[in-house]
Amino acid sequence: MSLSEIIQSRIAAEGPMSVAEYMTLCLHHPEHGYYSTRDPLGQAGDFITAPEISQMFGELIGLALAQAWADQGAPANAALVELGPGRGTLMADALRATARMPGFHDAVRVTLVEASPALRAAQAETLAAHAPVWVDSVDALPEDRPLFVIANEFFDALPVRQFLRDGAGWRERVIGLSDGALTFGLADRAPRPDLSHRLEDTSDGDLVEVSHAAQGVAEVLGDRIAAQGGAALIVDYGSEASLGDTFQALRAHEKVSPLDAPGTADLTAHVDFGALCRAAAPAHASPVTTQGVFLETLGITARAQALATRLSGDALETHISAHRRLTHPDEMGSLFKVMGLVPEGAALPPGLVT
Ligand code: SAH
Repeated sequence: MSLSEIIQSRIAAEGPMSVAEYMTLCLHHPEHGYYSTRDPLGQAGDFITAPEISQMFGELIGLALAQAWADQGAPANAALVELGPGRGTLMADALRATARMPGFHDAVRVTLVEASPALRAAQAETLAAHAPVWVDSVDALPEDRPLFVIANEFFDALPVRQFLRDGAGWRERVIGLSDGALTFGLADRAPRPDLSHRLEDTSDGDLVEVSHAAQGVAEVLGDRIAAQGGAALIVDYGSEASLGDTFQALRAHEKVSPLDAPGTADLTAHVDFGALCRAAAPAHASPVTTQGVFLETLGITARAQALATRLSGDALETHISAHRRLTHPDEMGSLFKVMGLVPEGAALPPGLVT
């Protein structure tokens, strides 16, 4: 049975499903799920991410986290954690850039939170020299040491539910069947006490997205960082408050319908940084900084110029366009945001506007 047939028979038996349930099946179904079956990254894949665009991204993130570690007294036992490390490129670049930071490599155990067997294999290859350990979820992160965490394009892959405002109530957007095909519909109007704060900044007909999974991860990170020390850098596309339908599917770098051929496209939604910030209490969350400002503040232009002296021809052109892609407001510079988490009173990692 294809994933489409599995989803259709489940809807036929149990009724329409939430967008979150659909996203979870499409991304993580053990046999047919998008992340269960493939490495989706890169030019030949479905999408490309900042660390795959340029080594500078992981280098600067690594240095920012190493600085946070030094600012917290260079603890001898810490974890350097990545959520959803993809091919391991960001972590490899971060480790190379921090190799000369005194004591850092000896202090940190590289710990990866990864759901996909295919990507775990890629990470094992890229990071073999650093003997990483893998865990299935943030709940399984070590409890006895500070956690220095990077999550790049991780939160956008976590399932969202969608709610359409109808007066003082909400109708959930669901996926059902019509003439034997998957189709979007709306559930009956219901009160949602958890969305009462959104009655203040939305109007009738507005759609908001809620990721319980993302809030759950932020809650664990916030609790752990407040109690154990450490810092987190969350980098993703999104905004300070969810508004509008951002549920999207990408296949071979093209937008396609999220209902088309389930399990064969990357499904994502924009990240609601305000919701993550609230969920991460009691940790302190920084204001949201754009990726462009974050990378410029960390010195990406000086690093780009230093690397450029060794390049010529096509390699130089690619390098210049990578710098632009990561930082320019018309490319990733403004859409992508960075938020930091630290224990109350601790210094934020560099690069964040305070
Ligand atoms: N950070 C990488 C990859 C981003 S793609 C980069 O920037 O290139 C999203 C990553 O999150 C993949 O590694 C995917 O397998 C992982 N992922 C998605 N949902 C997950 C979940 N629920 N638990 C753990 N890992 C997950």
